[in-house]
Amino acid sequence: MIARRSALKLATAAAAGLAIAPQALAANAQAPPKPENVLSPDAALDRLMRGNARYVEGVGRRQNFKHEREALSRGQNPFAAVLSCADSRVAPEFCFDAGLGDIFVCRVAGNFINDDILASFEYAVQALNTPLIMVLGHEACGAVDATIKSVKDGTTLPGHLPALVAALTPAVNAVQGAPGDMLANAIRRNVMLNVEKLKAAAPILSAAADSKKIRIVGGVYALKSGRVELLA
Ligand SMILES: [Zn+2]
Repeated sequence: MIARRSALKLATAAAAGLAIAPQALAANAQAPPKPENVLSPDAALDRLMRGNARYVEGVGRRQNFKHEREALSRGQNPFAAVLSCADSRVAPEFCFDAGLGDIFVCRVAGNFINDDILASFEYAVQALNTPLIMVLGHEACGAVDATIKSVKDGTTLPGHLPALVAALTPAVNAVQGAPGDMLANAIRRNVMLNVEKLKAAAPILSAAADSKKIRIVGGVYALKSGRVELLA
């Protein structure tokens, strides 16, 4: 309810053209609806990866959505936030064997940060106390592949696709001439570039990362095994 009031306050302040008071984004003071989600950044990463191991082995937990919906009707405290590609083969809640209210997910083809996604993660950290953010790339990403082709051939893609190409071009350029598979290299580089962007995003995420309140990590999802490899 606090979160809803905060959102309303933000909207009202914005509508009135007022400066938004910092307390509008203050953390939820109520008891968290999922106490098991109150974790340190390291413990949150450990839980995320243990969930992935269950998914890989095909021994995921049965989710009781009815019970979870009830518990979550008064708020949310996800233990991790994930930036994933929109690719239908990569489903963060499935691949980390997570339930409702566990993972705060933002998705866009090519899993890159823009202002709206950055604001969403700021909300997760500031208002929901989420201790972990993962940028999750994946094997054979069509968005990265299309960017490589567009950069190589110098062609302009139709519609709004050039915006996506522009966002992914820095990763493609950074791996030009590197040994190994260019697509795989660009996918990893794109994840790490966006991890760095999030770590440096002032004022909210940079401060939270510097003070170790949150961790920001990168991972790449393997399509066949389902395993998420953490990137250093
Ligand atoms: Zn993709």
